Amino acid sequence: MKSGKTLLVKHAEMLVTMDETRREMRDAGLYIEDNRIVAVGPSATLPDTADEVLDLAGHLVIPGLINTHHHMYQSLTRALPAAQNAELFGWLTNLYKVWAHLTPEMIEVSTLSAMAELLLSGCTTSSDHLYLYPNGSRLDDSIVAAQRIGMRFHASRGSMSVGQSAGGLPPDALVEREADILRDTQRLIETWHDAQRYAMLRVVVAPCSPFSVSRDLMRESAALARHYGVSLHTHLAENVNDIAYSREKFGMTPAEYVQDLDWVGRDVWHAHCVQLDEPGIHLFARTGTGVAHCPCSNMRLASGIAPVRRMRLAGVPVGLGVDGSASNDGAQMVGEMRQALLLQRVGFGPDAMTAREALEIATLGGAQVLNRDDIGALAPGMAADFVAFDLRQLSFAGALHDPVAALVFCAPSQVAYSVINGQVVVREGVLATLELAPVIERHNHLAQSLYQASH
Ligand code: ZN
Repeated sequence: MKSGKTLLVKHAEMLVTMDETRREMRDAGLYIEDNRIVAVGPSATLPDTADEVLDLAGHLVIPGLINTHHHMYQSLTRALPAAQNAELFGWLTNLYKVWAHLTPEMIEVSTLSAMAELLLSGCTTSSDHLYLYPNGSRLDDSIVAAQRIGMRFHASRGSMSVGQSAGGLPPDALVEREADILRDTQRLIETWHDAQRYAMLRVVVAPCSPFSVSRDLMRESAALARHYGVSLHTHLAENVNDIAYSREKFGMTPAEYVQDLDWVGRDVWHAHCVQLDEPGIHLFARTGTGVAHCPCSNMRLASGIAPVRRMRLAGVPVGLGVDGSASNDGAQMVGEMRQALLLQRVGFGPDAMTAREALEIATLGGAQVLNRDDIGALAPGMAADFVAFDLRQLSFAGALHDPVAALVFCAPSQVAYSVINGQVVVREGVLATLELAPVIERHNHLAQSLYQASH
């Protein structure tokens, strides 16, 4: 991007930088050139004109939120009766039968609707973990959706290779051959991965979980990822059954298992880690291994309460994730920050997480977990990703003395503006890159046919 287009944001009621100064400024703004921030400060200190000027009086401006764990295709199977009241393994077993009927169009359309929902809730960068590819589906189906809607995207090439006949959890029909997985992952990296600063698209190597892939695939995936300098992602230590599987199958705790496989480091992040033990927390802290904390999903599946405070005190990078829409039927990032705060307090007391800590996890924490230093804060040289919430709406009434706390404590709100890579993606509360109504209609039609195909 070298067009020189400029965007000026002025008069925000409050602007939160989340950079090392952690400034919270009244009557402030930003000056953006192309896809990066050039200046941040009080309105009076910024240039007077630009190609586009946004007067954000009455708004709270924060860095775009970062979602570090999702399965967007699952938004076709929200609130399914067979999966409403089960824990992880039973829930998965019931859903695999439905997901076996997914098509490429279903992947693309559900990615669009999942991203629209995330965008409107303040998320500007999202990861997605797609790990089953029935009926000709490919990761490319979600990548084209991200490009169409304008979201910064970390596309994780998931996989499953150990079916039921080999002692795994998924049905044999849903697993792939390991050679095919590695070949397709390499193709995706070579086709799509952008290692540059301000990249809108990165590819991640992401075997699904210890209970659905082999030790060999985990090892070869790590070698492939490191050869290309891309990140690694999987599920880990999600609940007590997950721990029991690890002990029985590998004779190790999940932390010992990933250490043995060399699945630790700043280029690795694991979803959940609800049951990560004390040695595991220290291993992650020592190696810079990240965690995607998914509070709604952990409650929905009764997996437990992740020790986020202990992890952060030890130095583990922690980001926030909404997780797939079949275990958190709403992909609302502000709502997820709120649940992170509330759940830590249920587990560990009223001072276990503050509003500002929840915001930090959802911005800087997410950036760290995705191994990026160009997003998660508003400062010169950072990517031009920010969101604005209208503080004059009903849900914030009575809380304007502290807009940051208002955002996290009050009812989850939608954005008025979202700017990603310098482009206005949401304007006055409306998605600007896509007409939403036909997408929702098509999504519902496809969800219905998916459900019918499996019954
Ligand atoms: Zn997940």
